This record gives sequence, structure tokens and C-alpha cells, in this order.
Amino acid sequence: MGLKLFNTLSRSIQDFTPLDSTGKTVGMYCCGPTVYDFAHIGNWRTFVFADLVRRYLEFKGFSVTHVMNITDVEDKIIKRVRETKTSLREFTGKYEAAFFEDLKTLNCREPHHKPHATEHIADIIALIEKLVARGVAYKAADGSVYFSIEKYRGSGSTYGRLLKINFDELRPGERVKTDEYAKESVADFALWKARAPEDGDIFWPSPWGEGRPGWHIECSAMSMKILGQCFDLHLGGEDLIFPHHEDEIAQSEGATGQPFVKYWLHGAFLLVEGKKMSKSLGNFFTLRDLLAKGFTGREIRCLLLQAHYRETFNFTLEGLLGARTALARIDECVTKLRELAGGTAAVPNAELVNAFTIALENDLNISAAWGEIFKWVSKMNRSLADNAIMVAEAASALAAWERLDSVLGVGVISESEAPAELKALIIERQLARHAKNFKRADAIRDELKTKGWVIEDTPKGQRLKKI
Ligand code: AMP
Ligand code: ZN
Repeated sequence: MGLKLFNTLSRSIQDFTPLDSTGKTVGMYCCGPTVYDFAHIGNWRTFVFADLVRRYLEFKGFSVTHVMNITDVEDKIIKRVRETKTSLREFTGKYEAAFFEDLKTLNCREPHHKPHATEHIADIIALIEKLVARGVAYKAADGSVYFSIEKYRGSGSTYGRLLKINFDELRPGERVKTDEYAKESVADFALWKARAPEDGDIFWPSPWGEGRPGWHIECSAMSMKILGQCFDLHLGGEDLIFPHHEDEIAQSEGATGQPFVKYWLHGAFLLVEGKKMSKSLGNFFTLRDLLAKGFTGREIRCLLLQAHYRETFNFTLEGLLGARTALARIDECVTKLRELAGGTAAVPNAELVNAFTIALENDLNISAAWGEIFKWVSKMNRSLADNAIMVAEAASALAAWERLDSVLGVGVISESEAPAELKALIIERQLARHAKNFKRADAIRDELKTKGWVIEDTPKGQRLKKI
């Protein structure tokens, strides 16, 4: 077995072989959030996908260096800073803090490096200087510095590595200063944007005058600074393929003359009624909106991890309720296994771990992996119901589940993880029943239910179970 991934660069499934000749370390860069608002769960689909990639590589024994940048200066941010009459740092700091809180709620492993664009201005300037020196960037009459696609192509390089571009059919534009543009308007793009009155006090000095970096150059500079000129994996949502990642390749390879990234991975969109979930369409839920509706981080994570990363996925609240039910099935099975195993140590059941691994080796086919998990849950439930499972077998099944969960990260809620005040209520209920105060005992049962827990009577006493 070996991991195979779909590489947008080759448009094909390829064996994953890291650049490290010892085959142990992997460098991975994921384009991070633009901190101008709360991230919506479409954004979270992409970040949970990046977490899946990292966790699976770690499950396989690789030592991963995970870098995720924070875009804390770009067009949209500057507009919002102006509108809200705040300072850049105050404005972005608020959304960055919220982002990391949400990242924790979704149980994503924290990236090892979280570089901020505003803290890498010197690296960005140095990279632009290299591009100017190599003749593929120039200062225009408007005072901004642009990347010259014509010069880059003239030097034998290809612009359009990720997305095929037919230059003969294009009406070549002059230049684009905005960070986002469509394929139809391929043109020289801004590396350094000359200071404009609407930028307020957001500018830095540079050899070309005061200004600020373009969005694309930020990622080239920060990724190469931390991971080196050539690294293994670069990830993002599919909307970043063009122009952002295309421009990253042009800038990086234009400056170094070396291949930039070995594998480009792109996650498909989260949709709402067939349309991309996005701020501009107004069809979005933030993580906080869903938490306020009573859903938990693990339920949302489970939903976001249901479909294969290259398939678009339609978000519905019913789907989220489905994730809740799916987790409840796993929780019930695992709780029973825990009771039976009673802390016995065991080697993970190889059959389950193998079935899971085979699914994920195939371009991270998570839906096939869930299929294997639910087959296993049904089998375990049958054996548990028939009392046909020994302590050692239960312990081995549990150890296998824990191994799988190091990748899935959905955990298991058990009684021991129920909040302390709820556990106190269960004791109070026992005492009430003992004193034949059934009114109080029933009131406690109802109170627990409104908090999302039911009491189950088992031969070993009362147990709390998440609804
Ligand atoms: P942004 O903060 O806008 O730079 O986006 C952060 C990440 O979310 C990027 O990798 C985007 O490609 C990704 N993204 C944006 N909208 C969606 C969506 N509806 N589904 C999946 N990923 C998305
Ligand atoms: Zn980026």
C-alpha cells in the first residue's frame, strides 16, 4: 500500500513520495484565512480537509511541518478597516482570535507555523526585488510593481500550469491591480501596490515607494521562507487554483528558477442549494451560527468529513442531524466496548485498521472509510448483543477505533466526558429515587434531556448518553 493523491499540477492521481530522501518529513502549506470576518463553514470544509491530510500523513508516520498563513492585509481587509474606522491590527486581531477558537472547536491540529503577511514585508520585498532583477517584474507608471506574464513566458516558463490557459483566445488585458480576477482577464498582476489615498495609514516603505503587497506574493514569500524553495504539498479550496495558486507558481519559479511545489491539492466547494457557500451570495452559516443552534464541533466536523474532498458537497441542517445520528451510533458501540474492555491494553484490530487505510490510501477516500467504519459498528453491535465478544477482542477493537480516530478526530463522548454538573445531577436523581421522591427524579431526567443527555439504566447502574 502507498498513498496516492490527485495532483492538480499533473491532473492525475500520483504516488505520494516526499522530497525528503529519507522519506520521513513532509512540508505542507495551506492558504489560511483572510481575517476580515468570521470564517463560514465552506471555509471550514477546506481547513478540515487540510487537517485530514496532515493527520493522515502523521498516522502513516511522517513528520509533517504544517504552515498556514494569516492574510492580514489585502483589498477586502483594507476596505473593512476603512468602513469600521478601526486600526488594521485591532480589526484583524479580532477575527484571527475567532478563527483559532473555531479551529479548536473543530478539533483541527494547530499548524506549526502561522506566519502573518504584515510580519513578512521584508521577505516579500526581497522576493519582488529578485523578480525585478530577473526581468519578470517591472514598475509601472502608476507606481505599482507588476509581474510580466509576457517576459515570464518569453523566458521559457509556462503560465497556466494548474489551469490550462489558451493565450490565443484571450483578449490580453493591460494589468490587474485587484487580487481577484477571472481567467478571461489574465494580465500582469500586482506584486506591490503603490499607496493609494483609500489605503489610509496601511502602507510600508519599499524600493518602489510606499505601498503594500499584493495577496499572491504574500503566500510565495511566506511558504518559501519557512519550507524552502521547493516543498511537498500546497493546499487550498478549488477557487484558489486561479489566479492565486497560478500566480504563486509564476512568482516563486520566476524568482528561483526551481520547481516550487510537488503536489497541489484542492478541496471542492461546500454548496448550499447547488451554489457555492460564500459571503457574497449571503448563503452562509458561520461555525458560531451552528453552535448557537445546538450543534457541537464534532458533529460539524463529522459532516464536513463525510464526502470525498474532490466532490462538492451540499450543506443542509438535515445532513447535520444525520452526522449527529451517525456519531451517536459510534458512541454507543464504543461506550459498550469500553465497559467490556475495562482498561485492558491491546494491539489494534488489524482488520479494521487495514480496511480504513486501504480506503484513505486511495486519494483520501473518506466516504469509503466511513463505509468500513459503519460495517464494523454493525458487526460489533451484533456480537455485543449476542454476548459473543471477549474482553481481549473488545480491547483490540477499541484500540483500532482510537487509531482511526487519530485521523478522524471526532472522538467519543462518554459519560466520563459529560459535564461535571450533569454527573452531579445523576447522583441527585439516584438519591431522589432512593427516597421515593419520583417527582424530583423525573424533573432531573427532563432537565438532562433539555441539555441533550438521556439516562440509561444498565446492569452496572445509570449511565448518561448523548442524544
Ligand atoms: P478566504 O478566507 O476567503 O481566503 O478562504 C479560506 C479558504 O476557504 C480558501 O482555501 C478557500 O478556497 C476556501 N473556501 C471558500 N469558500 C468555500 C466553500 N464554499 N467551500 C469550500 N472551501 C471554500
Ligand atoms: Zn495563499
